Amino acid sequence: MILQKIEAQKGNITQAVKKISEKENIPAEKISESVARGRAVILNHKDSGWTGIGDCLHIKVNANIGTSSNIINIEEELLKLKKSCQVKTDTVMDLSTGGDLDNIREKIIQESPVPIGSVPIYQAVVETIEERGSFKFLTAEKIFETIEKHAKSGISFVTVHCGITSEALETLKKGTRQTGVVSRGGAFIFSWMALTGKENPLYERFDRLISIAKKYDLVLSLGDGLRPGCISDATDNLQISEVMKLGELTEYANQEGVQVIIEGPGHVPINQIFTNVQLVKNICASAPLYLLGPLVTDIAPGYDHITSAIGAAVAGWAGADFICYVTPSEHLALPTIDDVIDGVVSAKIAAHAGDIARNIPGSRELDDQISQARFKRDWKKQQALSINPEKFKKVRESQEIFSEDVCNMCGKYCAMKIIDDIMKSPISHF
Ligand code: SF4
Repeated sequence: MILQKIEAQKGNITQAVKKISEKENIPAEKISESVARGRAVILNHKDSGWTGIGDCLHIKVNANIGTSSNIINIEEELLKLKKSCQVKTDTVMDLSTGGDLDNIREKIIQESPVPIGSVPIYQAVVETIEERGSFKFLTAEKIFETIEKHAKSGISFVTVHCGITSEALETLKKGTRQTGVVSRGGAFIFSWMALTGKENPLYERFDRLISIAKKYDLVLSLGDGLRPGCISDATDNLQISEVMKLGELTEYANQEGVQVIIEGPGHVPINQIFTNVQLVKNICASAPLYLLGPLVTDIAPGYDHITSAIGAAVAGWAGADFICYVTPSEHLALPTIDDVIDGVVSAKIAAHAGDIARNIPGSRELDDQISQARFKRDWKKQQALSINPEKFKKVRESQEIFSEDVCNMCGKYCAMKIIDDIMKSPISHF
């Protein structure tokens, strides 16, 4: 097993780094240095597909799929995987909590062209409840065994809620938050701690997690069990105290040569996004930052792919490296196929806007190419370059096309055509 961070720390440029360098047009030495310092990670998918996430690379996007306890349809989830890859998600997370979880995860890994992440605590809790009726019977052993099972089956990265502690539970009990805990994994761990009186094993035995990660070169995505679930809870003492714990654990993981990502909020007003990103980056040794959104307002159920894309664009500009999509179904239902497409495309737009702001090589050029094609009214080229060519075609062809030269918005009064014609006219004084 090649351990990417350890190889990078030895100064070796691995095959994975070379491939990412070619794909992203970023020097391999630069990527390798970022991996060595813990500022970038490499996700391994079946020893042939690698995705890099971190400070010098393009911002990446994740799509969450998976069954729920209410809706179990593996074919539908596999179609979501296919569609999200068609609109170019960089990774997918299987968040299944209903049905045969091992079978679902294995099928998703098998059919996926991109790295797959998971949250093993879900399976550990679901199986404990099915077998023994309550998750108070969950054991630390079951949690670690499930994490190792996921790694062994080909999962590239796992969310582990290591920053939750008994101290945080005491603060949470004071009830200062509007929405308490909104992370499902975080809620499981807090409730288990409250029922058993025990410390969080993922924090207490972080060394065991490190050993599993080393065995499989598994990337640990340190979860934000205390992320704010509404803008009122953003940047509060609970959120920040968890980040401090994640900072300590990141330092330990860096010393051990284990790759880590830090997960972040959540719901954050737009004026607090820069502070949040810089705070987490500073406390956590500039490890890659993985954000869910953030959603910049709480008033738009049904449109949260938009509220989150606004936040993600600003966060990308500020330094976030990895954006988890949010779909229009957020807070309402399990996403449909169309929701998944809208979610990925919205997050991709935000990520690209962040890339432009950060001057990531090759990002701005895409905009210039599509703008030039737009001025020339080159519809084929515009379609090919657009973020979702299928949608481009569908909208353009939704009305009768009266002219191949312009669109129906302005028709014969097309501003770009008027100026283009005038510029080319031999009789004009342009
Ligand atoms: S018709 Fe109007 S909207 Fe359409 S391409 Fe020309 S300027 Fe743009």
